[in-house]
Amino acid sequence: MGDSFQVMTNNIPTRREIENLRVYVPGKSIEETQKELGLERVIKLASNENPFGFSPLAKAAMMLEMEHIHLYPEGMAHKLTEKLGNRLHVDRGNIIVGNGSDEIIRLLTRSYMQAGDEAVLADVTFSRYETNILIEGGVPVKIPLIAGVHDLEGMLNAISDKTRMVFICNPNNPTGTIVEKRLLQAFIHNVPKRVLVVIDEAYHEYVTDEAYLQTIPFIGQYPNLVILRTFSKVYGLAALRVGYGIMHQSIVRELAKVKEPFNSNRMAQAAAIASLDDVSFVNLCVRKNAEAREILCAEFDRMGLKYFPSQGNFIMVHLRHSGDEVFQALLKQGIIVRSGSFFGYPETIRVSIGTEAENLEFITELKKIIE
Ligand SMILES: *Cc1c(COP(=O)(O)O)cnc(C)c1O
Repeated sequence: MGDSFQVMTNNIPTRREIENLRVYVPGKSIEETQKELGLERVIKLASNENPFGFSPLAKAAMMLEMEHIHLYPEGMAHKLTEKLGNRLHVDRGNIIVGNGSDEIIRLLTRSYMQAGDEAVLADVTFSRYETNILIEGGVPVKIPLIAGVHDLEGMLNAISDKTRMVFICNPNNPTGTIVEKRLLQAFIHNVPKRVLVVIDEAYHEYVTDEAYLQTIPFIGQYPNLVILRTFSKVYGLAALRVGYGIMHQSIVRELAKVKEPFNSNRMAQAAAIASLDDVSFVNLCVRKNAEAREILCAEFDRMGLKYFPSQGNFIMVHLRHSGDEVFQALLKQGIIVRSGSFFGYPETIRVSIGTEAENLEFITELKKIIE
């Protein structure tokens, strides 16, 4: 019966826009790898997760919140937006919370793009922009990175009458690079006001370079500016799915029409609120990440490997070998990274920065494979 079920098919057509879309391929999971390879110890450095976990304050808040999960959550996440607003010096009405910042990307394309509209983005950048543009029948206009960095001039020149939004991923996933402060500020200023400038700052806490632009003060000045942030990375709440966008109130009102009424759940809201109080946890993670980033880069230098200068919690390194092969070889040793072939850089891997012990294991195994 199982077999006949497998071969059964139907000819129900989907929307034309999704015919050629592929399902997102996430980083390989620890459980999957343990099962496939019969390994006890598996180190996952594939999805830019926080190797130090999450704040104990978040755990305590979730334990309390558990008592209320029979009740729908607060749909606009008022307590969380209030707290974020105070922290970021913007009005609560400038913030919308999503089921991950992935959802905010979806809400933006859903609300602002029609078939045939264009959106400008980097080639290569976070893949969710392109997928969501395509779902709406939009046209992704992809401008190649220059040495791993967004080509802001090229992106500005690519804006046409049909452009509805521009995506800047800063730091960029997968290269980890940032765009220079003054260049980004000029870019925001020069993009026509009818085009949304979406700046994805999923990794902004990890940035140590002073050439990074603090964008939130510009929210009041540019009603077409949208900033995306998340609790999935430095706050370590990836599984709870909670992110947010900061933007003009009129954009929040449009996105609110389109979102599911209860898009972020009670556990997520409670954990996010509590996490904001644990500044020392965030500072510790940021400091450890910056130290490890330097150590890893020094190791790559010693091995004669080139890499993109990263300001995130991951590094894309050039191997002069097939990224797929190195990925497989590392996997056999229980270390999961991401092959650059997924991103269109076949001779690279992207490695997330782990704990000191994890990074050491990774470097030791990489040396064995490459030498
Ligand atoms: C991880 C990541 C996100 C966060 O996604 P969530 O849906 O909030 O978990 C957003 N943008 C980029 C570029 C990322 O790498």
